[in-house]
Amino acid sequence: RENLVVVGASLAGLRAVEAARKAGFRGAITLVGAEEHLPYDRPPLSKSFLDDRDPEPPVFRTESVLRDDLGVELSLGTPATGLDVAGKQVRVGERCLDYDALVIATGATARTLPGSQHLAGVHTVRTLDDAVAVRKALDAGARTLVVGAGFIGSEIASGARARGLDVTVVEAQATPLVRAVGEVMGSACSRLHHDNGTDLRCGVGVQRVEGDGRVERVVLSDGSVIDAELVVVGIGATPATDWLRDSGLTLDSLDNGVVCDETLCTGAEGVYAAGDVARWHNPVFERAMRLEHWTSAAEQGALAARNALDPAAATPYRTVPYFWSDVYGSRIQFVGVPASDEVRVVEGDPDRGGRIVALYREGDRLAGALTINGQNVIMKYRGLITKATSWPDALAFAEQRRAVAT
Ligand code: FAD
Repeated sequence: RENLVVVGASLAGLRAVEAARKAGFRGAITLVGAEEHLPYDRPPLSKSFLDDRDPEPPVFRTESVLRDDLGVELSLGTPATGLDVAGKQVRVGERCLDYDALVIATGATARTLPGSQHLAGVHTVRTLDDAVAVRKALDAGARTLVVGAGFIGSEIASGARARGLDVTVVEAQATPLVRAVGEVMGSACSRLHHDNGTDLRCGVGVQRVEGDGRVERVVLSDGSVIDAELVVVGIGATPATDWLRDSGLTLDSLDNGVVCDETLCTGAEGVYAAGDVARWHNPVFERAMRLEHWTSAAEQGALAARNALDPAAATPYRTVPYFWSDVYGSRIQFVGVPASDEVRVVEGDPDRGGRIVALYREGDRLAGALTINGQNVIMKYRGLITKATSWPDALAFAEQRRAVAT
């Protein structure tokens, strides 16, 4: 193979080009990115980048490392607009790039609140430019309203509170994060907001955002009105697949992710997908998944490139999903899937805060684990899930840990 094209110049895309070179690929590599920026890291955008702990843009590699050391042709600032799988070409602006191996790593785009995006002061946080704008508003002491108590929204609220600003979080569900971590642990997370002076309002939506060119207030569905100069919308993201509409690739009917097999292959010759955009079959859980987690995006990017360059030796992407989030000085970590057959708190007390460990059962096996401030144990549970540990054995392990700890 002579031409590797990677579309999406972020985490998965960067890992793809690095892995290609590491695997000894000597052909041409083109990295296509819609944003002007060099690939940068997103997790700090809602954490340390928002304050002066870490004010520099979290760029992964310098331009010279990418161009000179890795020999990558950078095509930044113009999105790919089409893919012809029969002709093996990607359309970028006026150009058509030939490929014989292609990695699709276009990630996801933040959902917006209909009818509000034209007002200054209303932002999502997906890109570096978004985060720069939010930081500027926080620097100016903006009263902040966050729509959605998911992880990103909660991190923004936490950052605003750390500056002593007034923060309201509006969440449509009765409990935050229900789909991500279930009800018991969702309540534990909502406690973090309350304990840190954030006004968390659940079971209520945004009716309209008002202002004269710039946001001034938000009217909620229960009729209450909240004055705010900054509105951060954290209501999820959708896979960036518009450019693939006419490509013939299969997009998931529910969430538009690029449907792949267990090796991340889309079914079109030489075309693989990775990261937030990819829905693939995960053999560990025997089901299709699309994750929006840093670790899987990095790992999938590398594997997609290796598989695309040597399809005969393609290997599956098997993983126990992992993500983390930092809110109000606490680290939340989750491994596996938030199965709902049973959630058992095995350490700590969600009503009291502090360190908490909860396990998730699916059928008769351990399927997930969540910790708050449990950094020393979370990867042990990940190991147990990988080994398909039974529920009783997982509980016995937890009991042992507790005995050692006390
Ligand atoms: P992305 O990072 O979304 O990158 C896709 C790139 O493709 C973008 O640069 C985009 O501009 C570009 N693109 C889109 N369309 C086109 C096109 N048509 N042509 C060319 N380029 C295109 N995960 C965790 O596990 N823990 C965390 O604490 C955490 N915090 C996060 C905080 C924030 C604010 C955000 C936004 C995400 C966070 N994540 C976290 C998730 C993690 O960052 C993502 O899973 C990861 O960035 C996905 O990488 P990706 O390369 O697949 O996609």
